[in-house]
Amino acid sequence: MKVAVVGAGLAGLAAACELTDLGHHGVVCARRPWAGGKTYSFLDRETGESVDNGQHVFMGCTTAYTGFLARLGTLALTKRQRRLRVPVFDAQGRRSDITAVALPGGLHLAGSFLRYRHLALADKLRAARLLAAVTRMPAAARDTLDGVAFGEWLRLHGQSESSIRALWDLVLVPTLNARADEVSAAAALFVLQEGFLKSAESGALGIPTVGLSALHVEPALAYVAARGGGVRLGCTVTRLQAEGEKVSSVVSSGGAEPFDAVVCAVPHRQVAALLPEQVAGASPFAELATIPAAPIVNVHVWFDRSVTALPFAAFAEGDLQWLFNRSRLEGRQGDGQHVVVSLSAAERWMALDKGALERHFVAALRTAFPEARQAQVRRCVVLKEPEATFVPAPGIRRPGARTPLANLYLAGAYTATGWPATMESAVRSGLAAARTLHSDSCRRAPAEATSGR
Ligand SMILES: Cc1cc2nc3c(=O)[nH]c(=O)nc-3n(C[C@H](O)[C@H](O)[C@H](O)COP(=O)(O)OP(=O)(O)OC[C@H]3O[C@@H](n4cnc5c(N)ncnc54)[C@H](O)[C@@H]3O)c2cc1C
Repeated sequence: MKVAVVGAGLAGLAAACELTDLGHHGVVCARRPWAGGKTYSFLDRETGESVDNGQHVFMGCTTAYTGFLARLGTLALTKRQRRLRVPVFDAQGRRSDITAVALPGGLHLAGSFLRYRHLALADKLRAARLLAAVTRMPAAARDTLDGVAFGEWLRLHGQSESSIRALWDLVLVPTLNARADEVSAAAALFVLQEGFLKSAESGALGIPTVGLSALHVEPALAYVAARGGGVRLGCTVTRLQAEGEKVSSVVSSGGAEPFDAVVCAVPHRQVAALLPEQVAGASPFAELATIPAAPIVNVHVWFDRSVTALPFAAFAEGDLQWLFNRSRLEGRQGDGQHVVVSLSAAERWMALDKGALERHFVAALRTAFPEARQAQVRRCVVLKEPEATFVPAPGIRRPGARTPLANLYLAGAYTATGWPATMESAVRSGLAAARTLHSDSCRRAPAEATSGR
């Protein structure tokens, strides 16, 4: 079948790769002159370095994403921990590591949690009791909490405001891009169970050592092209034309073109605008506009010397959330150092201009890392992604791959994969859309042959 894949983010790329492997002619259309959607790199002319639109991290549990990299042959271009280990700093610069050891699920973090210094003892004991209960909670019970805000659930289970800020938000803000009060308890508990409590390996961090375009975007486009698929960059789709219960053609600047099926992999708030009015106004498309989104801000700083030997660090207090040492991660030797501060749930930083963000975060880095106090800033780049991810707010409805139009399928991190807005969810959604389309086409083909069509 000739299939249009509208949108070349990770969901569209994963769908296009899968479709070509399943024997379809997939044509992937990217709105911009480059592909990758929320994951791409650009050349910073001043430093000559490849810079990502946002620092991305994955985990041991994100097997669809690592499977995708393995398929593209690029998994070796990442650094992967065997087990979770994260240095966490408080406002005074005191360090306390979260370290998983080789013990069965739940117990693997117990030792380092008891030694953890950034939480009062009473908060720690209450949190430990709750974490033990979460480890044992069946998925069905967890999923009944979809309509409840996690913050409310935590308070109901005896968690203090300081523990919500210093512990629960430390985990949720980078993984869900929102705070405990803004997300559903089911989504938060999924992250805790799947990412941290399941096993010592599930939370192990994986970090790209090259730019995201080199890691998965360019290789995915090459994969599709090498298998006879089509790649159209700078191709904005303006309309999906429907006839009866099906999409008949895809309209772009190049005109209207007929396709047998379409995988729509554009961001959730842009889906309805592509559809005929009567379809866009009905379920599930109409509800997509109600799914909230949240920003992420990255502040890249090039110092004239090394300011830390750590490859990355998390911060339990203050404004620095996560720091990544790009020079170290990319194995770049030199007289300076490139670090990036990654700020999730970044609403409060969006209104500040580059100069203000540079001043604020360079000062924060100088407080956290004594070596940075003498260091000069050679360059600073601020990148803002206003709708970086959807927010799994209580009660939102995430659609599946099938839609009321028989040959239109949805893909995107926001679809009902069960995962938060991650590269994992995007890849899962793309694979699900391609496989659903394929199995529907196999079911229809014999029926159409029998009816003589
Ligand atoms: C700064 C930042 C940091 C992040 N950090 C992490 C992280 O550490 N770990 C992690 O797992 N995830 C992270 N994420 C989330 C992750 O990047 C996304 O969940 C994922 O990439 C979304 O992929 P997608 O394909 O669903 O959507 P998108 O990447 O948004 O792709 C949609 C595509 O559709 C295209 N499009 C839109 N309209 C049209 C049109 N009319 N015609 C043709 N094409 C169109 C867009 O140009 C885009 O290419 C981060 C995201 C950001 C922005």
